[in-house]
Amino acid sequence: MAQPALGLGIPLGRIFGIPIYLHPSWFIILLLITLSVRTQFVSQHPGWTPAQHWILGIVTSMLFFRSVVFHKLCHNLVAMRYRIPVNSITLHVFGGLAKIQREAEKAVGPCAGRSLRTQKRQALLLGLSFNLYRLRHR
Ligand SMILES: [Zn+2]
Repeated sequence: MAQPALGLGIPLGRIFGIPIYLHPSWFIILLLITLSVRTQFVSQHPGWTPAQHWILGIVTSMLFFRSVVFHKLCHNLVAMRYRIPVNSITLHVFGGLAKIQREAEKAVGPCAGRSLRTQKRQALLLGLSFNLYRLRHR
């Protein structure tokens, strides 16, 4: 059976035994999100150094993709709970793909919602940390 176009990629490792892959197209969206976030940091925090803008842009992008993996992991873990065979998770240009034999979408809601709340909390903490850093290093 042929794999779908965005099915596999660079193997990153396994979480709960589920292989995680990085499709080469993922680097496009990583770059776009990093540039977008960096541009926002430049306009909102002109006092930061270019290195700080870039590092925070990359860190924020990585936190975003960590949330995508967490969300896809929720799909797979719920599927595993209902004894639905799971294959893999692949990050790609459109986000991510959880390869599951059949969907158990209804049960994923609360878990995925937690992922978004966690992401908001982390963004808030990141912003607070850097503002505290700026205040202490004036
Ligand atoms: Zn989902």
